[in-house]
Amino acid sequence: MQSIKGLNLEELENILKAWNEPSFHARQIFSWIYKKGAVDFSMMSDLPFVLREQLKKDFCFSDLKPVKVFKSKDGTKKLLLALKDKNFIEAVSIPAKNRLTGCISTQVGCRFSCKFCASARLGFRRNLSTQEMIDEILCLKNNSLDRKLTHFVFMGIGEPLDNYDNVIKTIRIVNSAESLNIGSRRITISSCGLIPQMKRLSGEGLQIELSISLHAADNKTRSGLMPVNKIYPLEDLLCACKEYIVKTRRQITFEYVLIKGVNSKIQDALNLARILKGLKLCKINLIPANSIAELHIEPAGKLETLLFRDCLLKKGMNVTLRKPCGRDIEASCGQLQLRYHCCPN
Ligand code: SF4
Repeated sequence: MQSIKGLNLEELENILKAWNEPSFHARQIFSWIYKKGAVDFSMMSDLPFVLREQLKKDFCFSDLKPVKVFKSKDGTKKLLLALKDKNFIEAVSIPAKNRLTGCISTQVGCRFSCKFCASARLGFRRNLSTQEMIDEILCLKNNSLDRKLTHFVFMGIGEPLDNYDNVIKTIRIVNSAESLNIGSRRITISSCGLIPQMKRLSGEGLQIELSISLHAADNKTRSGLMPVNKIYPLEDLLCACKEYIVKTRRQITFEYVLIKGVNSKIQDALNLARILKGLKLCKINLIPANSIAELHIEPAGKLETLLFRDCLLKKGMNVTLRKPCGRDIEASCGQLQLRYHCCPN
């Protein structure tokens, strides 16, 4: 059965029209789902009884079941969510001073096999549907009743641009005034650099943020860490980034996870500054790697990290150093789906 949450407002209005119901009920339904936190159709008390019964007959309300909530000492929360087909995904909320960010998974597993990422170990199982991602977002919302979710990053399990249509539809729904009304600039897609989809994204007219996982400044190191680099090597990727910036006039953030003995030497920082020099609107976000014994990943040391950052700053680059959140509950970068693949026990 189709879930009501996979529909945008126009689709819902068309369904109501086909049922000979006034289309304004679509806005009421959206308000119940996205603003008033309804968990089934019976709660929608301002809808006619007959319409509620028709909705119950034709649509299900939820595709996800929260199984467990993990709470970090830094305030980060990770939700383990069961899908109807008995797969599991994880969604994370990350508090900061003036924001609460929801980190959204877009696939069950991932096909891109990045060496520092636990989600890759599962391989690719399937894409999440729009309704499943909306449900994920609403589960996070219902678990953060004391604070409003202000930002969303599509950086959880999976490669968002590999599930392009469903992710874009999800973004358009949460962006719409009738649902969560999250401004485009508060929504980020993070990608390993799928060039054809980046070109498509640049024509969507969405003012969202794009992050590209770079993680190395030469093809040999990047291909070792991210096999996708063999399909879209650095020269092609940076060329696509340049085109994206020119077309959208939006900044790209390059994510760079610092891994001991792999990509954290001063020479790597110099190479990074060199290859990004020609990009007018870009930022580098350095991420201390999380120690993942199963993947033999070790973070660069504190001093090495600071020297790497300072080298980029001296080269005139716009650099930030990410503060890791939720490490103690395995909710940080590269740690999702480290434990729960199919059975949470
Ligand atoms: S880092 Fe992203 S693209 Fe790479 S394997 Fe993990 S989820 Fe997939």
